[in-house]
Amino acid sequence: MIERVRVVLTGAVQGVGFRPFIYRLAGQLRLAGWVLNSAAGLVVEVEGASSDIALFLERMEAERPSAALVLTREVSALAPSGESGFRILSSDGSFDRTAGVLPDLATCPACLAEISTPGDRRYDYAFTNCTLCGPRYTIVRDIPYDRPNTTMRDFALCDDCRREYLDPVDRRFHAQPVACPRCGPHLNGTIASAAAAVHAGEIVALKGIGGFQLLADARNEETVRRLRARKGREEKPFAMLMPDLETARRYCRISPAEERLLLSAASPIVLLDPMSAGDLAPGVSGNSPYLGVMLPYSPLHHLLMRRCPFPVIATSGNRSDEPIAIDNGEARERLAGIADFFLMHNRPVARPCDDSVVRLSHGREMVLRRARGYAPLPLLVPKPLPPVLAVGAHLKNTIAIALGRQVVVSQHIGDLDTLEARQLFECTIDDLCRLYRFKPEAVVCDLHPDYASTAWAKASGLPVIGIQHHHAHAASCAAENALAEPYLAVSWDGTGYGLDGTIWGGEIFLAERGRFERISHLRPFRLPGGEAAVREGWRGAASLLADIGVRLGPDAIHQLLSRGLNSPWTTSVGRLFDAVASITGVAQESKFEGQAAMLLEWAIRGLDTAEAYPLPDGDWRALVEAVFAEARGGIPPQSISAKFHNGLVQWILETAERASVPRIALSGGVFQNRYLTERAFHVLESSGFRVYTHQRVPANDGGIALGQAVLAGN
Ligand code: ZN
Ligand code: ZN
Ligand code: FE
Repeated sequence: MIERVRVVLTGAVQGVGFRPFIYRLAGQLRLAGWVLNSAAGLVVEVEGASSDIALFLERMEAERPSAALVLTREVSALAPSGESGFRILSSDGSFDRTAGVLPDLATCPACLAEISTPGDRRYDYAFTNCTLCGPRYTIVRDIPYDRPNTTMRDFALCDDCRREYLDPVDRRFHAQPVACPRCGPHLNGTIASAAAAVHAGEIVALKGIGGFQLLADARNEETVRRLRARKGREEKPFAMLMPDLETARRYCRISPAEERLLLSAASPIVLLDPMSAGDLAPGVSGNSPYLGVMLPYSPLHHLLMRRCPFPVIATSGNRSDEPIAIDNGEARERLAGIADFFLMHNRPVARPCDDSVVRLSHGREMVLRRARGYAPLPLLVPKPLPPVLAVGAHLKNTIAIALGRQVVVSQHIGDLDTLEARQLFECTIDDLCRLYRFKPEAVVCDLHPDYASTAWAKASGLPVIGIQHHHAHAASCAAENALAEPYLAVSWDGTGYGLDGTIWGGEIFLAERGRFERISHLRPFRLPGGEAAVREGWRGAASLLADIGVRLGPDAIHQLLSRGLNSPWTTSVGRLFDAVASITGVAQESKFEGQAAMLLEWAIRGLDTAEAYPLPDGDWRALVEAVFAEARGGIPPQSISAKFHNGLVQWILETAERASVPRIALSGGVFQNRYLTERAFHVLESSGFRVYTHQRVPANDGGIALGQAVLAGN
């Protein structure tokens, strides 16, 4: 099969013979494509047989020029373009501004060895770093990336550090955050006492790389319960920091690709299949099908986890729904009622950056929350864009700025429901515009009139471009896959403002000649109680059942439905999930966004069946009848859920066959569902379609800003 991949390398990859090396390698393997040397890094795209591409990636790693120093490496699968021949392209200049602002990099082996070696001057030193590792984006205040422009400016280098900094053959040559115990940042307490607090079941607020984290012994049920109560987080799973890979393997199955992700410079939280709950407190992950696991990524985390050789919950230092705290005073205040113990330091954090969340799906990386370790690496889009600022959606907000063919998408900001989050949203806009010397000519926003981001756009005084939510999802997925039109876009999520004023979320578009034709959608149904129906899936269930002549649920609901009061129409697949979860008894409500849908997915538990409920052109009536009858008849949720998921895939397949376009993009929060995504991938690909999913930006609303930016160029 013909495939195309893009590899983006950053680091010292210029002037070391990388381009001729790539050119020769591509020639030997008879691959088409190009290599582009830019200030922001080296971009390679190759196209050819899958086996040759795999070989190319392997040899590119194994045989690369020895002088090259690769800091980050991103690989994405793209849509093949039919290109022939291999070329060396020249930079278009738009890269210059994004050069130098790199994401934060996990501690390298050499630095880890130093902090572990008694007698080394950096033994046990929590702020050790070098050119290959350490904080970047979270310490940069301005460009160029020089020490006076970072939060390290007030730490004057000692003679030893200065010597390393100035020595071209030293590992720390021009390492801006270089430091040692003599001249660098310091902790306000000891790591040993923080570790002792974790051992004692206390909740520890730790100032990490991108802000404060809350740490707690994941084996201590009482502690986990206390953390949930204090943080106001009822059931959403917690991620864990594991001391090392070996410990992680005791709890999870880890594939070679997942192992690479865990050990990568980005060092994200990786969602893994649990193997044995072992001694974990049941409250850590609730009944989630995944365990979120990360490994220590800063010297501080390494040193702490060395003293805590067991799984430790690591969650953002905030009350639920608020942004992560970054400075000491703010943390003391905001985390006062949550943390029992604080371990802080005097290196300021320039901007908050949560831990990123990634999962493997059908063998590919899928970023679900993009922040530390990934932001602000730019995304390359197929054509140059006008200078627009995209302000994203409302939930899981991110913003983006368009710099020619690059889009810089901000780190995850969060849900814009709280004042703190809205302040952070505004700060992030100022921050990115200042950092990249960017003056937007227009603002792109969602059509939803009640989104805080939309309100900001309208008040900005700049020309406003409104983009429909599900168009943005589709364009976002198409852009990161370099997908050419025409293509079919399946845009499914919980909620988005539709072009007809109803709530969309179950749309299938044909993208052609720059426009989206809505060729199929879920049959609309009412959501009695409006917003309340998002949390309480039984409301949607009552509505669907009423439509097929089954009256369930309180009279009040049926009065709302019959009078059409506070019961907006929707085509949301997310809400259909909630309703099916309710009818099968899997979940009547969601304690956090998407919970009922997750529980419904989890109910499948590996059942392998090709059976599917009918969902002709999105008409759910026969499906709901079948779900109801089978649930009544005692068929277990496992089988009902699988047939429901398969029915959704069947709907995509039928629509794709009718539209007869070879390429299909899957976008929207619903495609965080791994069973659905993998099943859609396999069923559609084996029917001759090529399927494209999100890789570097989230399928959820965290990817909306990218889609908005791209569509502003239409
Ligand atoms: Zn290092
Ligand atoms: Zn020093
Ligand atoms: Fe959405």
